[in-house]
Amino acid sequence: MKIGVLAIQGDFAEHINLLRRMGVECCEVRLPAQLAEIDGLIIPGGESTTIGKLAVDFELLEPLREFGKHKPIWGTCAGAIFLSKDARRAQPLLGLMDITVERNAYGRQVDSFEVDLDIAALAELDADNPPYHAIFIRAPLIESVENGTRILGQLEDGRIVAAQQGHLLVTAFHPELTADNRFHRYFVKLVESYDS
Ligand code: GLN
Repeated sequence: MKIGVLAIQGDFAEHINLLRRMGVECCEVRLPAQLAEIDGLIIPGGESTTIGKLAVDFELLEPLREFGKHKPIWGTCAGAIFLSKDARRAQPLLGLMDITVERNAYGRQVDSFEVDLDIAALAELDADNPPYHAIFIRAPLIESVENGTRILGQLEDGRIVAAQQGHLLVTAFHPELTADNRFHRYFVKLVESYDS
């Protein structure tokens, strides 16, 4: 089992470091051919427009779409935007997941925030399931989910911050920036259990 991290822009190094600390085999992905070597892919946070443009330039868009039809992908923040069907403006998207997102919905960089979330789905990793401390950096809002997409996390006011549609996972926040590796474990489990 090997996890790839899309490494064309954004904080891919943090995901790689966290996976290595967990003892998970992983690699940076920049070329279409590398997708054949991995079982699941993380798309990191960064700038979704840049990730999209570079994915077009590197001829990764179609190979990523093909990969995501059959293999698990987890998008964090900008990665979640890139994975979505609709970001309410024209930019290259994978369009794989039935969610609509609104970019920078919480305001500017200074409006970044941290909050404790109750994520019931994480109870499968740890029965105590303590609150999950989530870091939001110019995060997108997951405005709506369709076609059986499950809401995994919400703010107190109901705004959606994490969701899953089968083998596709999105978090509007940054689990790679905390010591809490539960979301990475959750994704690893998804990859291990997924039979494409
Ligand atoms: N604001 C970025 C975007 O819209 C996402 C920020 C992030 O990934 N932390 O693409």
